[in-house]
Amino acid sequence: MPGKNFNPTRSCHEPKHHVLPVQPIGFSMNISTFDLFKVGIGPSSSHTVGPMIAANRFAAYLHDAGLLDAVHAVRVELYGSLGATGKGHGSDKAVLLGLEGNLPDNIDPDHVEPRLAEIRSSKKLLLNGSHAIGCVEKEHVLFFRREALPQHPNGMRFVALDAAASVIAEKEYYSVGGGFVVSKEGQRVNLVQAGSVQSEGDLPYPFHSGDDLLRMCAESGLTIAALMMENEKHWRSAEEVRTKLLGIWDVMAAAVKRGCSIDGELPGPMRVKRRASELYRQLKERSEESFTDPLSMLDWVNLYAMAVNEENAAGGRIVTAPTNGAAGVLPAVLHYYTKFIPGSNKDGVMTFMLTAAAIGLIYKENASISGAEVGCQGEVGVACSMAAGALAAVLGGTPEQIENAAEIGMEHNLGMTCDPVGGLVQIPCIERNAMGAVKAINAARMALRGNGKHYVSLDNVIKTMMQTGADMKTKYKETSRGGLAVNVIEC
Ligand code: SF4
Repeated sequence: MPGKNFNPTRSCHEPKHHVLPVQPIGFSMNISTFDLFKVGIGPSSSHTVGPMIAANRFAAYLHDAGLLDAVHAVRVELYGSLGATGKGHGSDKAVLLGLEGNLPDNIDPDHVEPRLAEIRSSKKLLLNGSHAIGCVEKEHVLFFRREALPQHPNGMRFVALDAAASVIAEKEYYSVGGGFVVSKEGQRVNLVQAGSVQSEGDLPYPFHSGDDLLRMCAESGLTIAALMMENEKHWRSAEEVRTKLLGIWDVMAAAVKRGCSIDGELPGPMRVKRRASELYRQLKERSEESFTDPLSMLDWVNLYAMAVNEENAAGGRIVTAPTNGAAGVLPAVLHYYTKFIPGSNKDGVMTFMLTAAAIGLIYKENASISGAEVGCQGEVGVACSMAAGALAAVLGGTPEQIENAAEIGMEHNLGMTCDPVGGLVQIPCIERNAMGAVKAINAARMALRGNGKHYVSLDNVIKTMMQTGADMKTKYKETSRGGLAVNVIEC
């Protein structure tokens, strides 16, 4: 679903530079926990997961329209942030594999590079998995670094060509953050992912803001997590929700485990060294230090977050939470809960995930979870806010304390820019997730020391985040044209 800054009504005749409107334009759509927490592959939800889904949908459209056999080639045009940093984020690989019919939740990460090598050497790809077409990357995957489509900074145009190079079909899609994709017409198209929600309808607790959520909790006597579960039961049984949610947790835990076991370098010219495995060995070997250093727990939280984000940077299997770039924060804080909090259990994991989702959905509906729209405050900032509220919940917080924790988690990320060095989701992203996780733990602790009363509401901080993102220069919004990206020399 688009954030409220997505404007399908804006004319294509407007200037090509992107201007973010701050006023909401009235999108309101039911989103499930499982639309927010999606199994995907790295390194980016907006630049890898979204483009793969869009390409998959275009190929399916050609098939459904009976056009597949006439297609000789497909030209993919990537605009705005996708044009500027898509190369480093693997957008080119994602669209090629998406055109072949793959989706982020079912593609085997180990299959990616071998299949790409075949496409490149044969100069052919299998459109929708069956129809061979020509594919010469420099002709058929084009990066428009300085141009944006009018409706969103992450725009894509897919053009199907026949043997005479005439256009058979053309579609535009927008990757609006967190793996959500919408068509030019404003339709959400990413619900084709396996197990995603297919229907809309009236939820028992249709909250659209933090204030709504608190009011509904007070009126119903439900916790935030229980209220979310009631909404999820609109789509599937409580048992199915539990099974799926614990399955998502398993994928998060597997990413931590895998990240802790792999040495070497991350992809890309910077040759960034993977650090999680070495840190893991250090912490295991020197566990006695934990008895003398009361903050050694932070080393572990850092480890969990970095392990996930190194996996993400390497194109591995992770969960968008709410994005790939910020995928390490929630698993790190959830590991903190399961490893360091006495009495932690699977019910607590469920409470954590449902509470985090409730908070994330408010951001998705009222602001943005896209670094290309609002900077990193919309990615690591939102993940920190979600994790802070979720941790407060499993530590026994009231709905008011949970809302307070979520607010603190964002308040102190306001203005955080997105300036990935080399256009890769590595620096500052990997360490930033560790910082986001630690900040979330502190936010939960601060909120739990109070009674839930506070000056800045979650809704106010979300509105402020959105306005700050609108004021932020484009060079700080996932274009790698400002900040660290221009002050750190790639070697
Ligand atoms: S700086 Fe933040 S928003 Fe930008 S790519 Fe990295 S994690 Fe994502």
